Amino acid sequence: MIYLDHNATTHMHPSSRRLVDELLLRPMNPSAIHKIGREGKSVIEKARRQLAELLGVRDNMRDYRITFTASGTEASNIVIQNFRDGEIFAANFEHSSISKPTEELGNVNIVDVCSNGLIDLEDLERKLSLSTTGRKLVSLMIANNETGIIQPVKEAAKIARKYGAMIHSDAVQGVGKIPIDFIGLDVDFITVSGHKFGGGTGAGALIFRDEIHMKPIIYGGGQERSLRSGTENVLAIAAMGEAAARCKADLAERAKQMRQIRDYLEVKLLEKMPNTKIVGQEIDRIPNTTLILNSGKDAETLVISLDLKGFAISSGSACSSGKVGESATLRSMGYSLEEMKSAIRVSVSYNTTIREIDKFLQAFGEINK
Ligand code: PLP
Repeated sequence: MIYLDHNATTHMHPSSRRLVDELLLRPMNPSAIHKIGREGKSVIEKARRQLAELLGVRDNMRDYRITFTASGTEASNIVIQNFRDGEIFAANFEHSSISKPTEELGNVNIVDVCSNGLIDLEDLERKLSLSTTGRKLVSLMIANNETGIIQPVKEAAKIARKYGAMIHSDAVQGVGKIPIDFIGLDVDFITVSGHKFGGGTGAGALIFRDEIHMKPIIYGGGQERSLRSGTENVLAIAAMGEAAARCKADLAERAKQMRQIRDYLEVKLLEKMPNTKIVGQEIDRIPNTTLILNSGKDAETLVISLDLKGFAISSGSACSSGKVGESATLRSMGYSLEEMKSAIRVSVSYNTTIREIDKFLQAFGEINK
């Protein structure tokens, strides 16, 4: 199988795998007082430092807090639930881990999106200026999971500050692909997810300014300074920490490799199939993502046909059930239903080879006649 679906999840990094292997046989509950328990505690504290290093808060660990969760979804839900009595400002292209809980709370003010896929900052400012709510949150993802388009989070943070709003950024698709500097972005909260950058599934984290008082959404034994009760997933947290350290060391090289492969794919694709379109090609994107519009064709059929030929890609608008729906991201950019239904996403890793891309293009061409 040639795997080209790295935005959905990616392989565990070999160093994380080695670490998991090593820890697997030890019954470590970090809350236990005995030696094995204390070892577990030191494993998760090391992971916290590694993540802090990657996100640029290692030297200020007193001012910033990292809370481990089971997923990116959970980390974002903690933030959203803490603004249940406020007003949330977000675009339609946010991941369902933001859009669903805000929909459920009924307190979201939808911010317009420009046709190039970027949030409309003027609309954000206008909506914030009209808001009479005291407690406001802007939630803006670093990069979109479907298109890869990078959002102007720093500029949005500036506007948020002007109107006394806090700002959260879902950095799940950014980590391991572009540098993420929490302090430089001037945000209050960031969400990350281990399985998107080589840590395997089962751990995510919420990073936030420590002065912000946060209420838990899960109550119990008081782990993670009472913000996230439940015995910590030591293996997944350790694997995420190790993956963060590897990202920190190799980010520039990885990004270069991903970009070369992705650009090769796009050039060859447009040469071979001039009827296809690539979303956001003129705008800054994370270096591994290509969203292809293939008008007149049905994405679901393409994904299944490619699967049968041994290629893993996803439809651009696949929701968690894997079914093709209407992509809120593409809708917000003004694409037609026909275009949305034809969208397929190819997301490469730094390990993807030119040979794999050539094979993919050949198979895609054969199916797409
Ligand atoms: N945010 C974005 C942008 C994502 O792409 C995803 C996963 O696809 C998530 C959040 C959810 O992360 P997790 O799978 O860790 O819940």
